[in-house]
Amino acid sequence: MSSKPRLQGKVAIVTGGASGIGAETVKLFVENGASVIIADIDDELGHNFATSIGSDKVSYYHCDVRDEKQVEETVAFTLEKYGNLDIFFSNAGIAGKLSSILDFDLSEFDNTMVVNIRGVAATIKHAARAMVTRKTRGSIICTASVAGSFAGCAGFDYTTSKHGVIGLVRSACCELGAYGIRVNSISPYAVATRLTCAALGMEADEVEAMGQARANLQGITLKTNHIAEAALFLASDESAYVSGLNLVVDGGFSVVNRCLP
Ligand code: NAD
Repeated sequence: MSSKPRLQGKVAIVTGGASGIGAETVKLFVENGASVIIADIDDELGHNFATSIGSDKVSYYHCDVRDEKQVEETVAFTLEKYGNLDIFFSNAGIAGKLSSILDFDLSEFDNTMVVNIRGVAATIKHAARAMVTRKTRGSIICTASVAGSFAGCAGFDYTTSKHGVIGLVRSACCELGAYGIRVNSISPYAVATRLTCAALGMEADEVEAMGQARANLQGITLKTNHIAEAALFLASDESAYVSGLNLVVDGGFSVVNRCLP
């Protein structure tokens, strides 16, 4: 990485910023000169994390992406506190249910869609409104998954929801390019976070061992910092002409292994 901060003077919101991929991205954005709002529903974790960074360039704000009003309020709070919105990392998501289609509880299906698709749609809408109104040539980044392009990596609902995220990004890219707003997604493979450990019932080292066993790229364990670096690229001016991209961070997994054994 060059020594010049790549997000100097920029303002970012990171949903799901209290934990995992979001938290790692918050740290990297701040190290690169951005002011960041950590937007999450885990208030204790979010406040403690913001305090641990110890900078007036980071604040926690309660935001449940299932509630459009809260998304709108988070954007308004950010504009009031830091004066602009350049980057929206729409990263909050849930794992859904690993259950057979034959037994699938469709209320669980709805729940996954409300967080993983409608929540992302709400964030794109309100990020775009703020950017268009203020004529900011911003960057919107959404966390999809390798399960957004292939089946067999995750459950029925999660797979569907992440395909939806890629659809939202492509659709938003078409419309928002006219305003100079870039919209991209990141598709990680399995990273050991609270989400994967809980969903798979594994410890972090077990998730990493599973990833290593199935990955194509040997000798490197996929960590949250690899995803955060991808987000930094898409947030920074280094990707100034990149829009509509689904940046896959999986060490080649999805090219080589289309389905889990
Ligand atoms: P994580 O559980 O560590 O972080 C998710 C965060 O989202 C948590 O802080 C949680 O409180 C927050 N959140 C959950 N529901 C929310 C809501 N309704 N509103 C606001 N915040 C909410 O998990 P993670 O792995 O860092 O997940 C981040 C994103 O990465 C998710 O979209 C997930 O689907 C995606 N992803 C993860 C992996 C992986 O292997 N970890 C792989 C591909 C994609």
